[in-house]
Amino acid sequence: MTNFGPDYVRAIAPYQGGKPIAEVAREFGLDEAAIVKLASNENPLGIPDSSLHAMQQAFGELARYPDSNGFDLKGAIAQKFHVPTDWITLGNGSNDILELAARALVQPGQSVVYSQYSFAVYPLATQAVGARAIVVPAKEFGHDLAAMAAAIAPDTKLLFVANPNNPTGTIVAGEQIAALLKQVPPSVVVVLDEAYTEYLPPELRYDALSWVRQYPNLIVSRTFSKAYGLAGLRVGFGIAQPGITDLLNRIRQPFNVNSLAQAAAVAALSDEAYLQKSAQLNTEGYQQLTAAFKSMGIEFVPSYGNFVLFRAGDDDGAGARVNLALLKKGVIVRPVGNYGLPQWLRVSIGLPNENAAFINALKDILG
Ligand SMILES: *Cc1c(COP(=O)(O)O)cnc(C)c1O
Repeated sequence: MTNFGPDYVRAIAPYQGGKPIAEVAREFGLDEAAIVKLASNENPLGIPDSSLHAMQQAFGELARYPDSNGFDLKGAIAQKFHVPTDWITLGNGSNDILELAARALVQPGQSVVYSQYSFAVYPLATQAVGARAIVVPAKEFGHDLAAMAAAIAPDTKLLFVANPNNPTGTIVAGEQIAALLKQVPPSVVVVLDEAYTEYLPPELRYDALSWVRQYPNLIVSRTFSKAYGLAGLRVGFGIAQPGITDLLNRIRQPFNVNSLAQAAAVAALSDEAYLQKSAQLNTEGYQQLTAAFKSMGIEFVPSYGNFVLFRAGDDDGAGARVNLALLKKGVIVRPVGNYGLPQWLRVSIGLPNENAAFINALKDILG
């Protein structure tokens, strides 16, 4: 049989997402309405009303192509984050920004540095361009930035840092990132992936955009999928100086962000009330989940995102076994065996009743 495509593409293990509600209902003979999905770090509040309204306004123009330069959305981002519009790249989700960075900056055979247990898209983006991954062992489930800086090879072109990280929920302090940026050679581009930054309490925040002004080799990526509640629309963005932004814009699809997504994102960006409500709900849900873990004697990794990684058992079958048992009870969480964490599961923080359904199901299963 003919093998199509390069070896490095055939070697890619496809991304495993959270199971959709409809699929679990079909597979396990359950009522969709009774299923709780806490598998993809989605916002349990649902789409903001402000975004829904903005999309309704945009329906009439759907026969037309979207604005390929995202004038309104870039304008809104520029205003909110005090950066020029030509420092902004819009993406079909921030996933798009991560892939664009790899495609624009790395050639086959060159290397990309990222941490063990970091976001699954980093290996995918690396492998898709035929690059070599330098995976740096994690330190207490989080990024070891000093080791990552030390791991940079002469052919390294890109270094990914997720802060907070998914699926572990760990965070590194702003000062540590500042120290990393000082150490990284100017020929290596750092992608600082801040998909969960909106959930951080004030005392843990840091000003990543001041680093973008300082370092021409830094891309900060953000998403509308988590705290802004627009995961299904696929919209995110990267902020970098024009030397990088210009490259990303050359290779992106001209219409990579659809018009409904652009309209919804503009509205969400200024919806402070929704953002605050999201963060508040997340804080309360984190207390609810971790209190239950503590009372059940279940180990978990302290999280700064909208999800918690917890230990399902001590053997390497535990994650898959407890995941299946939860599915049968209509609770969808995320197995993380593909991250090298087969004893663990990741649960997204939901509404209070969703968290309670998960906790009750887990109590039933683990006795
Ligand atoms: C969810 C997530 C993203 C982005 O998701 P998009 O929906 O593509 O914007 C990026 N990085 C991390 C670490 C994530 O967890």
